[in-house]
Amino acid sequence: MPKTILILGASYAGTATAHYALKHTIPSLPDPSSFEVVLVAPSRHALCRPATPRALLSDDFFDQDKLFIDVEQQFKQYGERFRFVHGRATRLDTEGRVVSVELVKDAGEGEVTLEVAYHALIIATGSSTPSPLHGLNSSGRDELRAHWTAFRAALPSAKTIVIAGGGPAGIETAGELGEYLNGRAGWFSSKLENPKVKLTVVSREEKILPLLRPSIAQTAEGFLAKVGVDVIRGVSVDSVSPPDGGRGEGGSLTAKTEVKLSNGQTLAADLYIPAYGTIPNTGFVPEGLRAENGRVETNPQTLRVEKAGERVYAVGDASNYARPAVHLIMEVIPVLAANIKRDLLRAAGESPSGEDRVFKEDKREMQFVPIGRSKGVGAAMGFRVPSLLVWLIKGRDYFVSMAGKMWNGQHWAKET
Ligand SMILES: Cc1cc2nc3c(=O)[nH]c(=O)nc-3n(C[C@H](O)[C@H](O)[C@H](O)COP(=O)(O)OP(=O)(O)OC[C@H]3O[C@@H](n4cnc5c(N)ncnc54)[C@H](O)[C@@H]3O)c2cc1C
Repeated sequence: MPKTILILGASYAGTATAHYALKHTIPSLPDPSSFEVVLVAPSRHALCRPATPRALLSDDFFDQDKLFIDVEQQFKQYGERFRFVHGRATRLDTEGRVVSVELVKDAGEGEVTLEVAYHALIIATGSSTPSPLHGLNSSGRDELRAHWTAFRAALPSAKTIVIAGGGPAGIETAGELGEYLNGRAGWFSSKLENPKVKLTVVSREEKILPLLRPSIAQTAEGFLAKVGVDVIRGVSVDSVSPPDGGRGEGGSLTAKTEVKLSNGQTLAADLYIPAYGTIPNTGFVPEGLRAENGRVETNPQTLRVEKAGERVYAVGDASNYARPAVHLIMEVIPVLAANIKRDLLRAAGESPSGEDRVFKEDKREMQFVPIGRSKGVGAAMGFRVPSLLVWLIKGRDYFVSMAGKMWNGQHWAKET
């Protein structure tokens, strides 16, 4: 029986860990041919998720084969040492060191559950968004595309759209919708008068974009006003009617929704987009291993899930190691891989030299937020970045063209 390095989740964190293990970790272990990497996900495709605020509007903005990446194709280069399982983890038994995986069935097939034993386990199952427009959640590419199709069909008759959430997902979505539906006010106008569609962002915080300084948030509000977006600050959504408005499948995704706010105001939305509060995909993880926020309790320096027994790790949005962000995943992967290697060497009876590698989250102000297709705000390493640079780095295509090397493993060609 091969020793299985089991990776749950095939997005940024899971695919990066898999490439790193196959390129560097396994070849440096005694008897490499006794190891295999098994990658499990309910979606056969990975998604450039940061691009969803624009991608949801039209297929014309992105090459769909770069937006959705066939996962198995990216791993063909490793032959038999890699296996993809199209399924979702439903139970983790840390005593028996086994994960139950319910296979995704095609029409007409019965339910099949596999029990996958692991030698090492990496939990990289990420998080879901309340709006099904912003990610794969627990389904696949075709389901996400069906949501986009339904939303696009409802757009021409929408006169009012409410977006709940003043974080980057909400602000980017509002900016894209604003420019797409209303266009942009002229150079000398600070606000788009009489926009075709009334767009409102509801922000619980007094300031939108909480990770950025107030003056940058203010600039963002100015850019939003230019595409016909109003912001209501310091107010939260108390309830919506129907309760699954903007969240559910089919009709409820595009249902006219009444949005009740904590200040007593009620907004009538032809379309409602809840863009706050991601939900970690960790329901299969025993409760004792989860932190208060639902993410897996992880040593933030070593990425080990210490309460789960030997050689269990969590990374990406499913883990509480750091804030959810792709650039932090990219930074942490070599650290995680180094510690996995040390643990595997130890399990093989060797004594790795030196100490664990440790990760330290860079907490400086760092976020790029495009607002429509030509403007944006942001900061990098604590410095404010001009709109043109935000457009150049992120706003042009939300990193889609840069991501190819991550998905196919070239980014990890060297052990760092
Ligand atoms: C609208 C939006 C915009 C964003 N923009 C940015 C940005 O500009 N910059 C940035 O740094 N970050 C951004 N983020 C955050 C970024 O997308 C996440 O940090 C990143 O996607 C996390 O990657 P991940 O690999 O941890 O998990 P995810 O991308 O959440 O993927 C989860 C994976 O796990 C699989 N999975 C789910 N459940 C199971 C299960 N039970 N068993 C097995 N597999 C499972 C899924 O199919 C998927 O493969 C944005 C997020 C959103 C929602």
